Formats: sequence, C-alpha cells, structure tokens
Amino acid sequence: MVAENSADSKNEKNDILLSTQEVIKEALDKLGYPNEAFELMKEPMRMITVRIPVRMDDGKTKVFTGYRAQHNDAIGPTKGGVRFHPNVTEKEVSALSIWMTLKSGIVDLPYGGGKGGIICDPREMSFRELEALSRGYVRALSQVVGPTKDIPAPDVFTNSQIMAWMMDEYSRIDEFNSPGFITGKPIVLGGSHGRESATAKGVTICIEEAAKKRGISVKGARVIVQGFGNAGSFLAKFMHDMGAKVIAISDAEGALHDPDGLDIDYLLDRRDSFGTVTNLFDDTITNQEMLELDTDILVPAAVQNQITEENAHNIKADIVVEAANGPTTLEATKILTERGILLVPDVLASSGGVTVSYFEWVQNNQGYYWKDEEVQEKLREVLVRSFNNVYTTSQNRQIDMRLAAYMVGVRRATEAARYRGWI
Ligand code: NAD
Repeated sequence: MVAENSADSKNEKNDILLSTQEVIKEALDKLGYPNEAFELMKEPMRMITVRIPVRMDDGKTKVFTGYRAQHNDAIGPTKGGVRFHPNVTEKEVSALSIWMTLKSGIVDLPYGGGKGGIICDPREMSFRELEALSRGYVRALSQVVGPTKDIPAPDVFTNSQIMAWMMDEYSRIDEFNSPGFITGKPIVLGGSHGRESATAKGVTICIEEAAKKRGISVKGARVIVQGFGNAGSFLAKFMHDMGAKVIAISDAEGALHDPDGLDIDYLLDRRDSFGTVTNLFDDTITNQEMLELDTDILVPAAVQNQITEENAHNIKADIVVEAANGPTTLEATKILTERGILLVPDVLASSGGVTVSYFEWVQNNQGYYWKDEEVQEKLREVLVRSFNNVYTTSQNRQIDMRLAAYMVGVRRATEAARYRGWI
C-alpha cells in the first residue's frame, strides 16, 4: 500500500498537466489575478476527440483516435503542432496546448495555444496509410480549424509532407488554396525559410544570452546535448559551428562522450531518420551518466522527466537550457535554482519553432516571401527580447526562470480575456 501511494505521488509529480497547472496558478497569483483567471486557463476551452477510419494496405479498416485542443483564443487563432505517436493522450495534448499559449505569450505572437495528436505508430505505417490518416484528421476537424481559427504545425513524428497533405485536404474542403491553414509546409507550397531548424536556432540564441549572463564564452564552452533528433542534431551542429566543444550527445539507446569534443559532422552523417547513432559504437555510456558529466552547458533535447529530484543534485552544468518539452520536474527546477544553476525553461527556449511558424503564416497571408537572412534576423530579434524580458522578470521578482516565463506567458492571454469580458 505504501509503495502504491508513493508511486502515485511520483506519477502525480511527473504529471505534465498537473505540474503545468501548478505553475500557472502560482504565476496568476503573483500577477494578482483572481481565481476565475485560473479556472479559465487551467484547461483548454475546447477539446475535440475524433475517430478516423483508414483503409489499411491489407484491405481492412482501422479506426484511429485523434485529438485537437484549443486552449484559449482571446488574443487570436489557436496554434500548435499535431503529433503522431502511440502514447498520445488527451491529458498530454491538453497540457501541450497550454504550453503553446505560454510560448505565444512569451514571444508576443497574436495567437493562443492549440495542440493535436493521433494515437498511431507512423513507423509501422506505409506512406499511403499516413496520407489517408492525415487527410482523415483534417476532414474530421475542418469545421473548427482554419487560418483564422486554429492553425496546426508539425510535431513529434509529423513532417512537411504530412503538412502538405493536410493543407491540400483543407484547400479542397475550403474550395480555395489555403496555405495559411497550416505551417511547416515544404517551401514550394508556401513554407518559410528557416522553419526546419527554427527550434534549434531559438535554443542557440537562448544559450548565447544565458552564457552572456554567466560570463561564459560559447566559443570553447563544453556542451552536452541529450537527444539527436530534429532539435538536438541541429543544435549540436550550431554549437559545433560556433566553436563550442560538444563533449557528449545521446539518443534513446545510449550516449557518446569525448572530453576533447565529438566529431559532430561525422555523427550527423551517420545518424538514421529517427535520430539514432550511438548504436554504431561500442564505448557508450548511459543517458543518466551523461547528464551528470562535468560541463558548462547542458541541453536536454529528447524526452520528459530527465532531470528529477533524484539526479538534480548531481548535475554539474552552469546552464541548463530545455530544448525538449518538460525535461525537468518542478522539484528538480527548485534544486537546480537553489544550487545557482541557470535554468532556461522549455516554454522560452523552444519557442523558435512557433515564432517561425508565425512568420510563415504572415508570409502566406501577405503572399510575399522573405529571404532566409530576413527570417533569421527577425527570429534573433524576437528571441533576444523575449529571453531578456523573462530574465529581468526573474531577477526583479527573485524567482526562477520557469515561473518568470509563465508569468510573462500567461499575462497577455489573461489580459485579453479580461478586456473581452470573459473574467
Ligand atoms: P525527434 O523524434 O526528432 O528526436 C528525439 C531524439 O531523442 C532522438 O535522438 C531519440 O533517439 C532521442 N530519445 C528518445 N527517447 C529517449 C530517451 N528516453 N533518452 C534519451 N534520448 C531519447 O524529436 P525532436 O523533434 O528533436 O524533439 C525533441 C524534444 O524537443 C521533444 O521534447 C519535443 O517536444 C521538443 N521540441 C521539438 C521541436 C521541434 O521543432 N522539433 C519544437 C519544440 C519542442
């Protein structure tokens, strides 16, 4: 019974919706909003469940379950990715939609948060089955999504091809070419330069700003990157190209460590499309061992709950920048902050993706497309301003960067809801 209780309490601590609500509540209280504000913000205002029948390659019909959460549209249309994954749950999609409201608020975009997901395993599906599933999801949701209502984007295991199918399906239903319905499209269909690497570029800018605050030069700094997928691999490359020493990287199978710096170009060349490369080497260490190595900068860019109260005391980095969603628990956030480690939270560090998605939508709406340099310049301006806004809030209020980011992020949507007369 005791063991069961303690397992329950551990699950509760690592429950992403509960921990998001806990920080939202604290942020709204600190901002002086009444409890109605929390009641409005604690869950999505709309959660839609859809059932999507797909004729599989073996001739049988399989019915998939999908979700779309629209957290809050007080500021503008909701916006956020769609993930295809066997572990997708309604709770996870809800929490992630709240995070999208926070991210949009932090980088000051005219959006509320949205998120979607389909319970499926794309690694076991053919191209044709994936196309049918993508189109079926859009058909099921077509009345509640759209360029001025709710704008999807890529997320875990979805990519520009899936966005292209979804955009085509929506355009057919709408009887109009609607590139602004979705972002993360191929460039030829109205995608933006810089979208694919935008998350890692945003993380890089946050690392540069955090390093300045700590008097660390990125050139020559030791960096560890957990995860070698879309976010982690681009990031390792950007760090390497800036002269940092990437001393360790990892994937789901293990980690590679070289105190003199790894050959990132070689590893990029050898990794597979799911971000796995360590299986090609014998002398690997575990992910947990890697997280505790001595380093200047640690970037979790893989999965949730990697830095917990169990290992937070052993983290030796000066700066932890969360590229992944939810890699550090709230208890671990407290421990790291008390130990003087600068933690740059996910809702700030990984907001480069939604920022360039916004740029893509703006370009689609105006029908005028920007060069890569223009996108990069605008992204840098947004991220430097947002980082410093959150950092100053945390310094002035003497609170950790996560709570400061939540305060900045939740304020605009709450203020907009108040002006609309919702609370
Ligand atoms: P991905 O699927 O491309 O790559 C994930 C990487 O993590 C792979 O290298 C995989 O092997 C590794 N991994 C999986 N399980 C692991 C484990 N238990 N331990 C260590 N490594 C493990 O995913 P991605 O797009 O790079 O996203 C990574 C994280 O960043 C996620 O939390 C995602 O939500 C977040 N994120 C990504 C983007 C983006 O634009 N890609 C945007 C915002 C946030």
